[in-house]
Amino acid sequence: MTREAGRSRGVAVLGSTGSIGTTALRVIARQPGRFHVVALTAFANSALLASQEAATQPSYVGLVSPNGKKPPASWRIGASALVEAATRDDVDIVLNAVVGAAGLDATLAALEAGKRVALANKETLVMAGELAAAACARGGGEIVPVDSEHSAILQCLGRRDRNDVRRLIITASGGPFRTWTPAAIGGATLADALRHPTWSMGRKITVDSATLANKALEVIEAHFLFGLPYESIEVVVHPQSVVHSMVEFVDGSVLAQMGVPSMELPVLYALTHPERVRDDGVPRFDPVAHSPLTFEPVRLADFPALRLGLEAARSGGAAPAVFNAANEQAVALFLEGKMQFADIAASIDAALAQLGSMSGRDKVSLLAADAAARAHVSARAERN
Ligand code: NAD
Ligand code: MG
Repeated sequence: MTREAGRSRGVAVLGSTGSIGTTALRVIARQPGRFHVVALTAFANSALLASQEAATQPSYVGLVSPNGKKPPASWRIGASALVEAATRDDVDIVLNAVVGAAGLDATLAALEAGKRVALANKETLVMAGELAAAACARGGGEIVPVDSEHSAILQCLGRRDRNDVRRLIITASGGPFRTWTPAAIGGATLADALRHPTWSMGRKITVDSATLANKALEVIEAHFLFGLPYESIEVVVHPQSVVHSMVEFVDGSVLAQMGVPSMELPVLYALTHPERVRDDGVPRFDPVAHSPLTFEPVRLADFPALRLGLEAARSGGAAPAVFNAANEQAVALFLEGKMQFADIAASIDAALAQLGSMSGRDKVSLLAADAAARAHVSARAERN
């Protein structure tokens, strides 16, 4: 995509009231003349969304849910709000910061419409990576990752070809249970799981970071973004979250991208890639203050959600969509206090055993696999 010099680019921020959405609005506000907000969407009405509208003066505000306080008459309400926002003519970049498979249609529609999708909503790619690639090819859109690990990989790759790459090394903080015994992890509470050591994020991804399901989602995301086989994508635990990921090239050289654990830079870079722009609001890195940097092997046996996700990735077809949907449903139940921590992985395991070999080439079959996995997890939770 070529950037027309000097023109401010319109950004649709989907999921504007969330952790990434609010970060994105802060980042955009620091770049007047370069980016401006043209659309905002959120799940439900809130005072935060109203204040975001007042601050950014977008031409479109959309809500998915009609429940709650009556919104202004100018706001659009309904399931089509995300796609409407993502495909508007005044939108150049769609920042998809919706959580979960609910972001899929907007990503696909934006890519078909030739937009840049700055993608935080990794569940979209996990569920339907091939459909996203096909939508890019048809419509001329592109995906630029917001996830910090994938932003790091993109920055390390520069203009190099994937044939120059031997291995991607994705770092993981290890989450709140990195040093816990398996027995203690089994008894973890919701409060324990929500206490992330290095990142402040939405509740779903925070739980995913405690089970390490998030790293499985990220390995699949990397596979689709960068076109590398799963044998060439590894995970290493790095408790300080300073090295955001690494790329090993065929000559043995390893490049890493570093910085303080903050989403401000990955969000900004997803908007400006391949350019870099000055932003004094991004927290500065002090190597001495952040030392030492350490690395550990990942405890695959003690974090079964990661192992299950990696197995689903290799199976392909609908298995990643089943993994993702089972995880989303189990995490939702865990967040409601209706499921134990250890049952998240057990639910995913059971759903994959039953549904993991469903076919998954087209959207209809992927949506069917997604729905079946959610129903499987709910039914199992009812029985237990
Ligand atoms: P969040 O829960 O804080 O925010 C989610 C946003 O999406 C909110 O605006 C909410 O209103 C909206 N939303 C929720 N359900 C929706 C639905 N069904 N339809 C439409 N809108 C809906 O989540 P977050 O932490 O900002 O994460 C957003 C995405 O970014 C996730 O996919 C997450 O994995 C990814 N991500 C987040 C971080 C982070 O630091 N928070 C880092 C990397 C990737
Ligand atoms: Mg990440």
